[in-house]
Amino acid sequence: MTDRYAVFGNPLGHSKSPIIHARFAAETGEDLTYGKVEAPVDGFEAALRQFIAGGGSGCNVTAPFKLEAFALATAMTPEAAMAGATNTLRFTDGGIEAHNTDGVGLLADVERILRAPLRGKRALMLGAGGAARGAVLPFLDAAPAAFVMINRTPSKAQAIRDELLAAGHHGLSLADFDTTDRFDVVINATSASLTGECPAIPSRAFEGCELAYELAYAKGLTPFLSRARDADVRTLADGVGMLVGQAAVAFEWWRGVRPTIRNLIETLSIPLERPARQLP
Ligand code: NDP
Repeated sequence: MTDRYAVFGNPLGHSKSPIIHARFAAETGEDLTYGKVEAPVDGFEAALRQFIAGGGSGCNVTAPFKLEAFALATAMTPEAAMAGATNTLRFTDGGIEAHNTDGVGLLADVERILRAPLRGKRALMLGAGGAARGAVLPFLDAAPAAFVMINRTPSKAQAIRDELLAAGHHGLSLADFDTTDRFDVVINATSASLTGECPAIPSRAFEGCELAYELAYAKGLTPFLSRARDADVRTLADGVGMLVGQAAVAFEWWRGVRPTIRNLIETLSIPLERPARQLP
């Protein structure tokens, strides 16, 4: 029987998820359909329950429903619990299980596609919102020599560190923007680029840096990536690889089979003459 999946969000006009999952299904031979449900902003739960009642097997969830979906979950993975938000659900007998695949997807892009393994390296994450939260456990698991978070509102980064410590996860450090540390990998997990802004960046962060990664995608050379290019950072990347990576982790969680991601990332990337992604 053909299984049904979908992405829920509002608006959804721009969503690439149906294309991505159709490609994964074709590649792996999985028998499924994947559609879009643009639920009313105040009608997510009703739309979700209708989808489940209609035989849906699972779904992705995007803005503005990630927190509401999390609140409806009856079980969750550690990544979802840490993020306090979910982008992937699967439906079991009467239950809704929540996962957060954003961080694992980001890590897969950084380590496997961009070939910047974090083990023993110094990583800086700018931002402490939902995406940064989703990334902290996978990043700590990757065993960097240092993993530092800086946020415009320091108390939010502090809260993440406190939660990690309470759960027995050591290794996330906090710093101020005036730190003079250098980093091998700098991740922009702020949403500053969505409004054409550049988050504050510590003065020496890019010195000798291997990879500057912008979570936003399809924005071309953002102010953050421009700064990195001007500082001669070796590899610049935007979040298209994270987008495909998080979808692949979701697909594997649903179907038990891992699709490949490299070709699809290259297909969906903005051409290099507008350098949003330069593969090493
Ligand atoms: P949130 O709204 O949860 O968090 C926003 C973060 O950005 C906060 O840390 C906020 O700081 C910071 N911020 C916002 N504006 C500025 C600014 N002008 N200067 C400095 N810091 C700023 O957003 P998300 O975590 O959900 O998303 C973050 C980014 O990641 C977005 O660009 C989003 O598009 C992208 N994303 C990409 C995905 C992908 O698959 N490629 C998946 C998910 C997200 P403060 O706490 O001070 O408000």
